[in-house]
Amino acid sequence: MNAHRAWTCVLLAHVAIANAATWSPATIPLNATQVGPRSWYVEGRLEDASKDNQGFMSNAGFVITDEGVVVFDALGTPALGDLLVQEIRRHTAQPIRRVIISHYHADHFYGVAALRAAGAEVWAHVKAERYLRSDNAQTRLAERRQSLGPWLGSDFALARPDRWLSTDESFELGGVRFSLQHVGPGHAPEDLVMLVEPDGVLYSGDIVYAGRVPFVGDADTRAWLGAIERLLKIPARVLVPGHGPASRSPRDELQLTHEYLIYLRKEMARAVADFVPFAEAYARIDWRRFAVVPTFKAANRNNAYNIYLQMEGEALHGK
Ligand SMILES: [Zn+2]
Repeated sequence: MNAHRAWTCVLLAHVAIANAATWSPATIPLNATQVGPRSWYVEGRLEDASKDNQGFMSNAGFVITDEGVVVFDALGTPALGDLLVQEIRRHTAQPIRRVIISHYHADHFYGVAALRAAGAEVWAHVKAERYLRSDNAQTRLAERRQSLGPWLGSDFALARPDRWLSTDESFELGGVRFSLQHVGPGHAPEDLVMLVEPDGVLYSGDIVYAGRVPFVGDADTRAWLGAIERLLKIPARVLVPGHGPASRSPRDELQLTHEYLIYLRKEMARAVADFVPFAEAYARIDWRRFAVVPTFKAANRNNAYNIYLQMEGEALHGK
């Protein structure tokens, strides 16, 4: 490198620092796994977000074409978004064109600022608009500032997409066909999934939690079952879930979440119908089939309680 170029690089480096993000860099290892000729993903830990995992507890995917990269989900902090960009850069110099957000939960979209800074246009389904205006969004943000503050940075804000989608959409980039399907309401009203057609890789977001008990929260479980049934119709050879490892038997993974939700709904509906209080019903239920699944201990009781309340609601409203 000649002296002039070296000096230019130093200057550019300074400009980069002047514009640098306000977040602390994430240091957790993040390595992509290839799941198709063009398709990759990074797998977060099967844990709740914590200082220890720096918020890396959800998955994100990326697809490399000859005309650029399409990313699926942005991870849980801008610092992690940065790590994802760096990881993509280890595999390709193609520009990052677009990031599709599966749903507006903190662990899937808080990293968007880093991808946007890398040049990506952000797409999401319009049903997320309501969440962004909700108190829930603010409550979650306050909690994440506590738990992951340094990696969010001081000027963190909930990012709106550049483009709201309101219908299913297919597009082509570098000769690769992508199909985006709105399968919500399921885990969230806005659930979007992405099929990379030539690779047969389906990025499902949180409709499926591979190898773990899902987090039900306030999700409408009847709608969620409907979304799983819609997913079962998509011809995929590989499934990349929102959490947990990719699977080469998508049907089995879908069935696990499907069976778990059906079981909870059935048991809780019975308890509600017989006027059995929740704690008593919970203690009586045979959980052996699901107790071996990771995160069962952490998630199951809350899930069961939320579904108990839902079944009460459904019984009351005769739904
Ligand atoms: Zn998630």
